[in-house]
Amino acid sequence: MTYADAFSADYFTARNRFREAATALGAKLEAHPIESRAPNGEPLTIDVAILGAANARRIAIVSSGLHGVEGFFGSAVQLAWMTGDLNARTLPLDTAVVLMHALNPYGFAWRRRCNEDNADLNRNFLLPGEEYRGSPPRYAQLDRFFNPPSPPTTGEPFRLKAIALLLRYGLTSLKETLPVGQYDFPQGLFFGGHQPSQTQEILATHLSRWIGSAKRVLHLDLHTGLGQRGTYKLLLGESTPPNRIDWFMRQFGEDVVEVSQPGGTSYRTRGSLGGWCRARFSGDRYDFALAEFGTYPLLTVLAALRAENRAHWWAKPDSRVWERSKRRLVEAFAPADIRWREMAVSQALELVDRALFASSDS
Ligand SMILES: [Zn+2]
Repeated sequence: MTYADAFSADYFTARNRFREAATALGAKLEAHPIESRAPNGEPLTIDVAILGAANARRIAIVSSGLHGVEGFFGSAVQLAWMTGDLNARTLPLDTAVVLMHALNPYGFAWRRRCNEDNADLNRNFLLPGEEYRGSPPRYAQLDRFFNPPSPPTTGEPFRLKAIALLLRYGLTSLKETLPVGQYDFPQGLFFGGHQPSQTQEILATHLSRWIGSAKRVLHLDLHTGLGQRGTYKLLLGESTPPNRIDWFMRQFGEDVVEVSQPGGTSYRTRGSLGGWCRARFSGDRYDFALAEFGTYPLLTVLAALRAENRAHWWAKPDSRVWERSKRRLVEAFAPADIRWREMAVSQALELVDRALFASSDS
C-alpha cells in the first residue's frame, strides 16, 4: 500500500480500515459512541487502539481528527503506521501506543472542522474555573464578514475583501482575533462551544485508564491546514514548561518546534486539548505537541472554512452549493495531490518513529 492509498474516501471507510488493521495487530480496541449521527443516520464513534505492553512505562499517543475533516490525513497516518514496517511488532520494550481515531467523528463524517455544536474542539477543553463565554475584542466587528447569514456564492471576490480587511486591521490583529477562539457567536468560525463536548467527556472518563501507571506520556495530535505546504511544525502550547520545550527541540529539531505565544494582551487562547491533558496529568509527565502539516496558504484555508460554514447554516444539505463547499473544505485540509499525500504521511511516520524512540530523559 502506498501512503496515498492510506487516505480513505469517508469517515466510515477510514474507521473500518482502522479497526481491521488494529485487529490484525492484536490491538485492544474500544469504540466510544457519541450521540450525534452521520449524514446517513449511522452511529458515530471515537475508536481507540492500544498496542504494546500492558502497564508500559512509556506511552506514545497519536490522535487524529480533533478537527473533524483533518481526520482524513490523521487517519491515513495511523493506518500507514499500523500496516507499515514499524509498528506494534517492533515497539521498544516497555512502550505502548494508544491510537485515538477521529476525536471529532461528527466533523469527520460531515466534512466539517467543528463538531455537532459548531465547536472547535481545540478551544473546547476549558480548565476548571474557566467559563464558556468571551471573545477577542475585534471578533464582533469581523463576524459580519466571516459569518454572513447567506449561502456561499461563486462570484464573490473573497480575496479582495479579505485583503481590504487585512489592510484595515493588520495581519497581527486578525491573527489575534480569529483563530484564538470565541464563545459568544455559536454560528461563527472558531466557536469554542457553550459546554464540554462529548469528546471531552469521553477523554475525561477514559484517558487515565489508557495511560495507566506510565511514567511518561508523549502525545502527538495530528492536524493539517496552516503552514508551508509539504512541511510541518510541532506546536507546543504556551503552558509547556521550558525544560520540556528544550527536550522537544533536542528530540525533534529546533527548526520544527514552535511555541505558541500568548495571544493579544487582552485575550488569552483557552480550551486547547494539550493544555487540558497536561493540567490533568501534570506537565512533567505528559508531553503534548500538535503536529500541523501545511496544505494551502492562509487565505485559501480561511475562504474554504468560511464557505463551508455558510453552507452548513444557510444552504440545503446535499444541494450543489452544499456539496461543493464540503469538497472544497476536504481539499483545503487533505489535498488530493498524490505528492502532498505521500510526503505528508511519510513525514508524519518519521515523527511517530521519533516519538517512539525519543529518549525519555529530561
Ligand atoms: Zn487542526
